[in-house]
Amino acid sequence: MSEVVISAQSVSKTFGAGADKVTALDDVSVDIFQNEFFTMLGPSGCGKTTLLRLIGGFEQASAGQILLEGQALNDLPPFKRPINTVFQSYALFPHLTVRQNITFGLEMKSISRSDANARADEMLELVQLAQYGDRSPSQLSGGQQQRIALARALAPAPKVLLLDEPLSALDLKLRKEMQIELKRLQTETGITFVFVTHDQEEALAMSDRIAVMQSGKILQVGAPREIYEQPTHRFVADFIGDSNFLRGDLVDGPHGGHAISFGEGQVINLAQDVKSDKLKDVNVSIRPERLSITDAQTAKSNQLTGTVTFVTYFGTDTTYRVDLDGQGPVTVRMQNGDGANAQFGKGDRVGVVMPPEAIRVLVD
Ligand code: ATP
Repeated sequence: MSEVVISAQSVSKTFGAGADKVTALDDVSVDIFQNEFFTMLGPSGCGKTTLLRLIGGFEQASAGQILLEGQALNDLPPFKRPINTVFQSYALFPHLTVRQNITFGLEMKSISRSDANARADEMLELVQLAQYGDRSPSQLSGGQQQRIALARALAPAPKVLLLDEPLSALDLKLRKEMQIELKRLQTETGITFVFVTHDQEEALAMSDRIAVMQSGKILQVGAPREIYEQPTHRFVADFIGDSNFLRGDLVDGPHGGHAISFGEGQVINLAQDVKSDKLKDVNVSIRPERLSITDAQTAKSNQLTGTVTFVTYFGTDTTYRVDLDGQGPVTVRMQNGDGANAQFGKGDRVGVVMPPEAIRVLVD
């Protein structure tokens, strides 16, 4: 296991007082590892920027502490932390050349001009803008300015780079390019990136691990695949990708584990090792693409019955809306291929097949 670089320990942050009091972070604990692309993901107002600002030293925690390599950062001002930040607005100095924008911070750290210039050229090479050193920032496109902002932030070789929605001002195509570029920069430099976004696709595409936040709390931390395939909370399953939600009772499974009962004769085995005290009326999620439909006449295990109410053809896949008996509607998304799904239409009685490993029992 890699070394922990940043450790947030029971961190809370409130703003204001009395009736105006806002709890931006509520007892948040998380470890961020060396050489990791770590993303804080959540909707507007969930507290992700506040956590980033606490790590950067722009805000002080109301309770708890933040450690860098085991040392409390409490009173260290931002410029004394081996941590740099890239903001959404690139904040380049318009009156300096591109190279001077990069050397400025280095010379502030008492690095000689010739060393600073050499480092700037190295950084320009890294962001693939070697020939632009003598230009003014205004002569660069938005994407190029963003790369310069990154080069400037990476130049002092910080231990941690904080990135607050740095791609949100870019158009979609450029944004996709910069996602790949950011991931490359992180891998090549080996610097820990702590990235903030509300864009779930961006988070899935770039991150080694994601912390999903809601209302000042971290609900789940995990690798993209884990977050997507094994969400712990309804909020996580809903915020990232599409999900069906059903309610049922936990019962003993045939082989010692659990199964979930959706009513008379409708018991589905679970692969998940559920550790819940609650047995009645639990919430489960299942991704539409993990479901499939089959002829209701062919009885199969792990399947519920229902009636097709809607069919939408999307080219690569077809989406079915199925009204499950006694459960209500679910969405089923099946890949098209050789007309394999063409046989199901509105009004058909079908079986909806639920693979045990695709069903997740949620915390709430
Ligand atoms: P966004 O994506 O919109 O930036 P966020 O998840 O980054 O949202 P924060 O900016 O961390 O959320 O804000 C969390 C909560 O704290 C919000 O309710 C916000 O209004 C409040 N907040 C943040 N900074 C301050 C401040 N300086 N004074 C008062 N309230 C603040």
